[in-house]
Amino acid sequence: MSRSPSIPDRPRLDLDPEMSEDERLEALREHFLTIAQVNEELDEQLAIAEDRREEFQEEVDQLERENGALKTSSLYVATVEEVTDNEGVVVKQHGTNQEILTEVAPQLREELEAGDRVAVNDSFSIQTTLSAETDARAQAMQVDHSPQMAYEDIGGLDDQIREVREAVEMPLLESDQFDEVGIDPPTGVLLHGPPGTGKTMLAKAVANQTDATFIKMAGSELVRKFIGEGARLVRDLFELAAENEPAIIFIDEIDAVAATRTESKTSGDAEVQRTMMQLLNEMDGFDERGDICIIAATNRFDMLDRAILRPGRFDRLIEVPKPDEVGRELIFKIHTRDMNLAEDVDFEALAAEADDLSGAEIESLTTEAGMFAVRDERTEISMEDFRSALQKITDEETAAEPVAFQ
Ligand code: ATP
Repeated sequence: MSRSPSIPDRPRLDLDPEMSEDERLEALREHFLTIAQVNEELDEQLAIAEDRREEFQEEVDQLERENGALKTSSLYVATVEEVTDNEGVVVKQHGTNQEILTEVAPQLREELEAGDRVAVNDSFSIQTTLSAETDARAQAMQVDHSPQMAYEDIGGLDDQIREVREAVEMPLLESDQFDEVGIDPPTGVLLHGPPGTGKTMLAKAVANQTDATFIKMAGSELVRKFIGEGARLVRDLFELAAENEPAIIFIDEIDAVAATRTESKTSGDAEVQRTMMQLLNEMDGFDERGDICIIAATNRFDMLDRAILRPGRFDRLIEVPKPDEVGRELIFKIHTRDMNLAEDVDFEALAAEADDLSGAEIESLTTEAGMFAVRDERTEISMEDFRSALQKITDEETAAEPVAFQ
């Protein structure tokens, strides 16, 4: 903490009784000037002190607010199972799945219906109902009726695009052909490969091409954020798709719900198991489901439970690797389509230098290059900017790598 500035000494004046009138006047004038100067210094110090007082006051207010928030106890989320004929309401607490018979104020009771989400306190008394926006279904699923993604926006994945089109587009657009040939169309497609390589883009582009609704759910959120609700949300997911046919269900990070079974029997594992069983049930009953296609993605193919890869489930596996040199050049071109580039920019050379970068990293590299030009107040992005951006991204990656212990 900074120390208070030292206060200037108080000016003193000792007049010699032997002084003449003029000398005395001169000494008084000088003394007056010294006092005026000290006064000015003190004024400045006062202003600084007031600024600091304000800063401290803000800090105190902030701490008081935090303290207040810490003192109010948290509420638990539960779902109303049944509004009984007498005073009671049966609720099921999320996470523990415990069913509790509790009482509720008459005016709140009138608003409640089975299936509503509510907040309960430590003694399970219902404090408030949760509004539609906090509904888990709305939070857990992202619905896009017309995703704006085209195959031309994806660089270096021609084989993967062809495979996805065969596995998803044809069953959705030309299902009769499968009937005529007498084979079942693929049920689910699993895209696997490192992060940021275009898996989500592929799923969105095929939804766009088939005019299908794109419904995305992240597997990791299902098990981390919506504890106790995973199986119900999977059921809801397929219901929502049926309401919005043709639809593409995209489950990102599927490994979070479909990792190899472990021996441990903790409640968390049981919950993940239930969610996965529900997913398999939904996929097994897929034949009757009209125009719905399911695509899943994972960065951890090695961790997947082989049960989900059986025929009739995720029976089309498509690897989406990091781009090769030609792919990187295409991705550079795609992400700089709207940029103002200098003549010296050479994407072939950049693609060779940007060895091992993913599509997502190339995208952020191009933005970073633009930032270098902006910082220099230039409107054109030069080769030098791209090289500096590449250096920055490579340095950041090296810094983020774990240190190996000897
Ligand atoms: P994750 O596994 O982390 O979910 P992902 O493989 O689904 O990643 P995307 O979300 O599809 O990756 O890609 C992230 C971003 O990276 C995209 O928005 C896009 O800008 C860029 N990108 C990735 N791959 C490509 C590519 N092949 N062509 C063009 N852009 C790409």
